[in-house]
Amino acid sequence: METKNIVENIRKKFPALAQQMNGQPLIYLDNAATSQKPLEVLELLDKMNAKVNANVHRAMYQLSDEATGLYEGARERVRQFINAPDRENIIYTSGTTASINLVAASFCQKYLMKGDVIVITADSHHSNIVPWQLAAERIGAEIRILPIDGRGALRIDMLDKMLDSKVKIVAATHISNVLGIVNPVDKIVQIAHNHNIPVLIDGAQGIVHVHVDVQKMDCDFYAFSAHKIYGATGVGILYGKSRYLNEMPPYMGGGDMVGTVTYQKTSYAPLPLKFEAGTPNFIGASALKPALDFAASVREGEVGEAVKASEQEIIKYMLNALPNEIGEVEVYGLPEGKVSSQASDDTGDKIPLFSFNIKGCNAGDVAQLLDKMGIAVRTGLMCAEPLLNSLGVTSVIRASFAPYNTLDEAKKFIECVKRAKKMLM
Ligand code: PMP
Repeated sequence: METKNIVENIRKKFPALAQQMNGQPLIYLDNAATSQKPLEVLELLDKMNAKVNANVHRAMYQLSDEATGLYEGARERVRQFINAPDRENIIYTSGTTASINLVAASFCQKYLMKGDVIVITADSHHSNIVPWQLAAERIGAEIRILPIDGRGALRIDMLDKMLDSKVKIVAATHISNVLGIVNPVDKIVQIAHNHNIPVLIDGAQGIVHVHVDVQKMDCDFYAFSAHKIYGATGVGILYGKSRYLNEMPPYMGGGDMVGTVTYQKTSYAPLPLKFEAGTPNFIGASALKPALDFAASVREGEVGEAVKASEQEIIKYMLNALPNEIGEVEVYGLPEGKVSSQASDDTGDKIPLFSFNIKGCNAGDVAQLLDKMGIAVRTGLMCAEPLLNSLGVTSVIRASFAPYNTLDEAKKFIECVKRAKKMLM
């Protein structure tokens, strides 16, 4: 089948894409913020809300068993998807943010002392900055930043020298939600492990675009959200190595995470429940199974090849069209080998995510005009204010593509940005 037909078939699974916005067919290019959901996910959410709605792990009746089966089945799917050794390594949370907060609070409480150091990468989302700042403030620790270079790549060459005996953890972004560059996380892990320092990877964007094998990567923690990978909102995953998860204190206390409780003292449930206090979003979590099945289906076989080809085409087109067709555009995050926004055919380590500004145009104004033309993009600080500061801007326009987006949509996007620019100049 032709690439175009394969992508069209994928689109049919997404009712959200068939909508009109402001009288125009919706072109949804805010996938880095949240992806749309395929029918299989919507159907499971509906079925569970309507019928299989019983609290998990708690009851001796069939409906609860069914809900628990779906919930634990999805945990197993996550385990397979990232090749974790065991279900105990897969902790359900409410999102990437919650996963990183859990590690920042619990790991730092266990392993850090006053004067210790946390290394984070300069391309971090606020979710990989603020939780570490909170922990550092509590403990009296310091934060060190691994910088980026001119095109937006991490200065991996500087990492080894930054890692002295005070550094107790490295928290690195897999793919920045602003720059769209795949960071060499395997290398980061290797360098940190040479110093016996564990590594957390913020995989909010990485899990969507890269095949993640946590054992091969050898990261100590990997955090991601379900809603960016075709799943439900309010669900996230923390993968952690057993040796750390077993030693770390619980993050939250409550039902389900306990062994025995007296008024004086509590023993904790074994992993993974030790970190899963309270009634979880078991319906949203269960939907990770069809969500990850879908994610796998667009990576494998003929469909996978077609999706890859389509994404490469989109990346090449956008990296050429942004500077050449629109003009006076600055693109943030360029593929390997590129140092300016000039056109190039190399896609390198770039994913189909494009943050840019047009000289003389306010990013918010451009986005509002695009919305009138049916196009959904994100503008603003992208929850990465320190990174935008270092890029010397206070706002960017970001268009982020998913496997269901087409080259025709990219072309329409460029046409519409051109029109918006004309209106604003
Ligand atoms: N890290 C990165 C790189 C992200 O892109 C995001 C979401 N924009 C997050 C963390 C936070 O994810 P969530 O809001 O789902 O917790």
